[in-house]
Amino acid sequence: MGAFFLMKHFDYIVVGQGLAGTLLTHRLLKLGKNVLVIDKLREITSSKVALGAYNPMVLKRFTPCWNVENQIQPLYDFITEFEKEFKVTIHQPVKLWRLFNSVQEQNLWLEKSEKIRLQPFMNPNFISNPHKSIIADFGFGEVNHSGRVLLTKMINVFRNKLKNNSCLLDESFDFSQFTSTESSVTYKSYSAAKIIFCEGHRLTLNPYFNYLPLMRTKGELLTVRIKDVNITEHIKSSVSILPLGDDKYKIGATFNWDEKDELCTDKAKEDLLQRLASIVKVPVEVIKQEAGIRPTVKDRRALIGKHPKHVNMYVFNGLGARGLLISPLLSKQFVDHLENGNPLDPEVNINRYEEEYPC
Ligand SMILES: Cc1cc2nc3c(=O)[nH]c(=O)nc-3n(C[C@H](O)[C@H](O)[C@H](O)COP(=O)(O)OP(=O)(O)OC[C@H]3O[C@@H](n4cnc5c(N)ncnc54)[C@H](O)[C@@H]3O)c2cc1C
Repeated sequence: MGAFFLMKHFDYIVVGQGLAGTLLTHRLLKLGKNVLVIDKLREITSSKVALGAYNPMVLKRFTPCWNVENQIQPLYDFITEFEKEFKVTIHQPVKLWRLFNSVQEQNLWLEKSEKIRLQPFMNPNFISNPHKSIIADFGFGEVNHSGRVLLTKMINVFRNKLKNNSCLLDESFDFSQFTSTESSVTYKSYSAAKIIFCEGHRLTLNPYFNYLPLMRTKGELLTVRIKDVNITEHIKSSVSILPLGDDKYKIGATFNWDEKDELCTDKAKEDLLQRLASIVKVPVEVIKQEAGIRPTVKDRRALIGKHPKHVNMYVFNGLGARGLLISPLLSKQFVDHLENGNPLDPEVNINRYEEEYPC
């Protein structure tokens, strides 16, 4: 008698449970969908290394982020819902201060804060420097609607739920055990109506979607101890100083488009410490260094949508350097598309890269 395998059926298989996979699966489960998540547990992923900060502005030029007015509320809604459902705190509403380097920057801040699109996000009143240990002769501008989400905690809490519900496979997705037909997909002894790949920078190893132009940008950051400076704001200058409590701060991050590994380098450490020394006058002790790869895209827009040939295969990726701000709205729109056929925003739909797909 031949071996008999009992196939377990799901509505969706989601591959990858970083920020992208977590948000998407959370929304699908809310709709009562049956989801299998396949995620290889790794200590280093973009989501786990990230500062987890969100901020509605590009602070180099004092401009609003892409589509930001539609993104803030879905982010707050997601945080509130998640905290309520899991009875955990993941949100830290930290004030964000942009350090001014000159009178010209102060003037530009004032000018920009009168613009309709920027009014909700910019406090026009300058803040004079309250920190003796920080060099900020021109003071700061305060950004409204900014803060931090504890991404690792959020991912771990959600992973536990998946584990408890027996819908998590902790393994690397093995493409040799995967098939897709017009009506369903099959992976080992599991089948599903649809599969969604949320692999972050590892999309480049996915034989179905690696035609997409994922650039991958390495970022390194430090955790340091700076004694008795008592900085409670997230300070943005040539470097970010994010308070963690207990005299600890995250300092980051670098942007490196050439290196594609997750290894920490002395070069990045020196670079961050040098930039920090131009603002902070007191000694700094390095406690930890981390490196990760951001899933960035050539045109700086996410990569969402259906495979050009395989009708049950989808991707949700390319969240870039601001994944936290953009992913709550994008995951909502994507689920609306999957479940109700609502059109995707053309700016993020992967059909914009159909010409790159090898026939
Ligand atoms: C240094 C640094 C700082 C950052 N700071 C911020 C910030 O402050 N704010 C912000 O919004 N964004 C920040 N980002 C960007 C942010 O991290 C990303 O936008 C976002 O986390 C990407 O999430 P993701 O789920 O797409 O990818 P990932 O977090 O990489 O998750 C992918 C998951 O898929 C799994 N996986 C991949 N391939 C497979 C496979 N074949 N089989 C099984 N599992 C697989 C991985 O193990 C992982 O768990 C930062 C990034 C870096 C590197």
